[in-house]
Amino acid sequence: CTKMFSLKDCDAIGFDMDHTLCRYVLPTQIELGHQAVAKWLVEVQKYPKNLIDPVIMHPDMIYSGGLLFDAKHGTLVKMDETGKVEKASFGTKLLTKSEIVDFYSSKMSCDHYQKILDGVLSDKGVYHLHDNNFDMTLTVLLSRIMELVGNKKYDVFGDFYKAIAHAWDAASFSGGNSMFFEEIKTYPEKYLLKCPEVLKTWLKALKNEGKVLFLLTSSHCDFAKHVMDYCFGSDWRDYFDIVVSKAKKPRFFNEEFPFKMVDPVNLCELDSEVINLHHKGWYSEGNSTLLFEHFKTWTKKDNPTVVYFGDSVKSDIVSAKAKCSWETVYIMDALRVETASLNPLSSNEQHLLLSDAFGPILSCSNGTNSFFRKLIETYGTIAVPSVEYVASLPIEFQYSRLGNGKGYYPKLPDKLI
Ligand SMILES: [Mg+2]
Repeated sequence: CTKMFSLKDCDAIGFDMDHTLCRYVLPTQIELGHQAVAKWLVEVQKYPKNLIDPVIMHPDMIYSGGLLFDAKHGTLVKMDETGKVEKASFGTKLLTKSEIVDFYSSKMSCDHYQKILDGVLSDKGVYHLHDNNFDMTLTVLLSRIMELVGNKKYDVFGDFYKAIAHAWDAASFSGGNSMFFEEIKTYPEKYLLKCPEVLKTWLKALKNEGKVLFLLTSSHCDFAKHVMDYCFGSDWRDYFDIVVSKAKKPRFFNEEFPFKMVDPVNLCELDSEVINLHHKGWYSEGNSTLLFEHFKTWTKKDNPTVVYFGDSVKSDIVSAKAKCSWETVYIMDALRVETASLNPLSSNEQHLLLSDAFGPILSCSNGTNSFFRKLIETYGTIAVPSVEYVASLPIEFQYSRLGNGKGYYPKLPDKLI
């Protein structure tokens, strides 16, 4: 499609919540996510105490997109656009070229390349593409754990998944037993940023233009309410025609799970399956097919154009585009490296999001594009530094689509290529 992209041409406009509509203070949020998982491994599974050292001790092992964790070798890998391993680390150290050849043969090609490019960004226990701010909290921990792999005392992958499940389990928010949720409940101002007025005004303007607005988050209803109450204020539901929590993206786009009703007072989901979604309703789980049927009714169009904003290539971008043919706006924090982007990255954020060891996110040392760039340009419509950036432009603004260096806003940053 060569036509320019404009929100004016969209009928339904949807948003992810975490790191999209609601922005986090990245340095504190990354450290908290790391601690929530690391502490459980140290305290419950008796891993060495150095796992809980702050992530800032290994800033090179954090990277704001595109590192593949290859479980077969325990390596973190940066690929070029053809699937050739450009850089790799084992533990907290970068591998030399001859060490890469030992793992990946003289061709230095990564087996998972085609499957990931086809849209399978994670295969449990086999590989996981780190593509978003949540994943960034895990790279330092994984690197430190891999240095322990030789020690057979640990079931590394089993323990790692158990630790993640513990830290982010649905019951943990109300149960009070997750460090991550307890911190964000008690000190929201340390981790979350208030939504700027320009964004609220813009949402109202989109509503006035007759757009259907929806919030679609994988966070559970109690956490979603906590975050939205803090960032937007208690009237946050007024901005949206429908709210879906616990959406389990990308499953929401790929499978046909039923919707359930959310009880907004007791903040729990009701058991019975819902077929007719009500305007202004709040639901959990569900699927894109049934939601789209309702968009047709609400917009009175046979084939309404839908756009979805999200920060996770894996959960928000790939399936929304590939399975649903929705337009996708990729929220890419690394684009805030440009000073014209609004809220440019602080030096602390730059230190964390960019890595001297792995080099630029969007290109490789041999002059080719990185695999991550190919992925973004395959599935994204445009890439922007924040929703606020889009909100600061007119609704009828015409965006160039991603490809050939275009589609990144405010521009393709020199520091990323
Ligand atoms: Mg998100």
